[in-house]
Amino acid sequence: MLANTHLPRPVIPLAPVLSLDSLRRGAGPRAATVLDAGEVRLVTSGRVALALALREIGVGPGDEVLLPAYHSGSMVPPVLWRGALPVFYRVAPDAQADLADLAARIGPRTRAVMATHFFGFAQPLAALRALCDAHGLALLEDCAHALIGEHDGRPLGAWGDYAAASTMKFLPVYEGGALVSARHSLDGVALYSAGAAFEMKAALNTLERGFGYGRLGALRAALWLPLRAKEGLWNSLKRRRPATPRLAPGSSDSSLDLDPRWTDKRASLTSRAILRWSSPTRIAQRRRAHYLRLQDAIAGLPGVRPLHRELPQSTCPWLFPLLANDPDALAQRLAREGVPLTRFGHPLASGVGPSTCANAARLARHVLGLPCHQELREDELRWLVDAVRRAVRA
Ligand SMILES: *Cc1c(COP(=O)(O)O)cnc(C)c1O
Repeated sequence: MLANTHLPRPVIPLAPVLSLDSLRRGAGPRAATVLDAGEVRLVTSGRVALALALREIGVGPGDEVLLPAYHSGSMVPPVLWRGALPVFYRVAPDAQADLADLAARIGPRTRAVMATHFFGFAQPLAALRALCDAHGLALLEDCAHALIGEHDGRPLGAWGDYAAASTMKFLPVYEGGALVSARHSLDGVALYSAGAAFEMKAALNTLERGFGYGRLGALRAALWLPLRAKEGLWNSLKRRRPATPRLAPGSSDSSLDLDPRWTDKRASLTSRAILRWSSPTRIAQRRRAHYLRLQDAIAGLPGVRPLHRELPQSTCPWLFPLLANDPDALAQRLAREGVPLTRFGHPLASGVGPSTCANAARLARHVLGLPCHQELREDELRWLVDAVRRAVRA
């Protein structure tokens, strides 16, 4: 994400914000989610789910975990938390796992393979499953970009020993992740409430983000006084519990770290309720429709193209990954227009560079992730399409 204080605040929300429409149903066949894949534990972030999956697999000191070289800073701390060593495998130009390179990096200490469905597009799961089975390795599906979707008739997350999802990337929630297993019991994963202050923060933050983008007008009026009182309430809560665990995990405030104090905490009531009431069918339909509008809007423009030629039928995209010839200049022009962007994996961390994987280095630099989420209104989407076309042509 761009963090430049001179730029205008994004005109439209980068991630979903709550409105009354968020709770509407979608029509048609029900879209599958990772939560349909197996047993579920709802935690406070995707990285906590990854960390718990590695713990359940039995990953420990001295072990190696294979990770895609195209990665974000939040994917490594769960491996380090287990005392294990991340080993990066190469990806193809479209971010699919390079299976030959992956196989070549399997050694006597390798315990698990992490596969990330970048931007919602499925990795080659049958081949990954076969490779892991042949070497006695656990497969961990990183579904942080793919809460919703299927591959070969099964929900994403059903192929791995474990799957991890990040509900913050798909739903109007302040925090949330899911650990899922289609193959193993999660009886050993006990979760505890993070307390009343956390519950309140999760609820108020979700409402405030909705209010901030002009949603929930009637509710805002009704809650005007309570929200005015919030600051005072916070300060008094913080005064009363000085050094106790922070009120919310850093994962909700753009930190990339894993805070071990949050590994045994249950997702807030607010995020669990929104997860239960949301319609995956509506979310998938709207995200796909928005993605296709962006794809049409940039077709034929110079210097840009979509990362993927096609949007497969059962894919629900996280973002619209735009491949730009001159990404830094375009990112600046987009930011000046007020378009919010995510540059996944930019800059690549953990010493991964072109010598590890030229494709990962290129993806991290050249892919600009545009929002296509379900809570963009028609006027916002039209504005986004126009702003993107202006910025590309400038
Ligand atoms: C965001 C992300 C995570 C971590 O999810 P959080 O909910 O932010 O902890 C893991 N993997 C990938 C690929 C991600 O983009």
